[in-house]
Amino acid sequence: MTKVGVFGASGRMGATVCEMVVNDPDLELVAAVDPHHAGLDLRQAIGLDVPGLMMSANTDGLAETGVEVMVDFTVIQAAKQNLRWCAENGVHAVVGTTGFDADDYAELGKRFSKSNCFIAPNFAIGAVLMMRFAELAAPYFETAEIIELHHDQKVDAPSGTAMMTAERMAAASDDWAKDPTKKEVAKGARGGKGPAGIRVHSVRLRGLVAHQEVLLGTTGQSLSIRHDSYDRSSFMPGVALAVKAVADHPGVTVGLDALLDL
Ligand code: NAP
Repeated sequence: MTKVGVFGASGRMGATVCEMVVNDPDLELVAAVDPHHAGLDLRQAIGLDVPGLMMSANTDGLAETGVEVMVDFTVIQAAKQNLRWCAENGVHAVVGTTGFDADDYAELGKRFSKSNCFIAPNFAIGAVLMMRFAELAAPYFETAEIIELHHDQKVDAPSGTAMMTAERMAAASDDWAKDPTKKEVAKGARGGKGPAGIRVHSVRLRGLVAHQEVLLGTTGQSLSIRHDSYDRSSFMPGVALAVKAVADHPGVTVGLDALLDL
């Protein structure tokens, strides 16, 4: 049994991860950290029966739980701090929090020597395939735009998945047409400029979970690749896979692809 803890345990993703861990016979939930729900038991905080487990405010006493893998779904600043603790205490980390850039990955690479870190901006298998398909299609099209759509509480934009998709498409092809726009009547109408100038548009809408459409166009034809996560449970098989695999992947690994045979 792998001993697992969750940072951001009362958040939308964190609470779903807690439930997944409790229902997985190979995993044991030994810690739940969330500053604003500290002192509550898990039933009070997230409606989950885990006798004796209380929400803790921070990492005090976390090492004594014997936790082997900490899962982080919080906000970028908190995640960086949490990962520092994991690296210093030799605890593996599985990270879903978005907003990390290349410099952050490099810094994590230096920090994680006693334990490993696995980061995926998207743990849904369909989203991983969408990125792979977009990367395969990229060399055959000169124009591409990414539209990512999320729930109305998401604090960062564009999504980590959209940025990673653009990065991989840019790496797969350097032959992209110039943006023809001369006058932007409403600022931002053309979206944000991602890698290789690929435009990324972020929609925030109540009722959505996580969705993305990659549009690719060339003379006389276009290709649309779309993925929809309708429920946070869509991310859980990927999180469980990462929690079980992280100990065997030294250093920092980015992207669920690394654990799949794509
Ligand atoms: P959320 O509901 O706002 O949850 C974030 C939680 O983190 C909150 O409960 C927050 O507590 C808590 N928190 C803040 N600082 C903390 C700290 N220092 N230690 C522990 N907990 C802390 O957000 P969400 O929808 O769950 O999303 C969380 C992150 O996951 C976002 O970055 C999102 O983009 C990402 N995400 C990734 C995937 C993926 O597949 N990789 C999928 C979905 C979402 P308070 O609210 O009390 O401040």
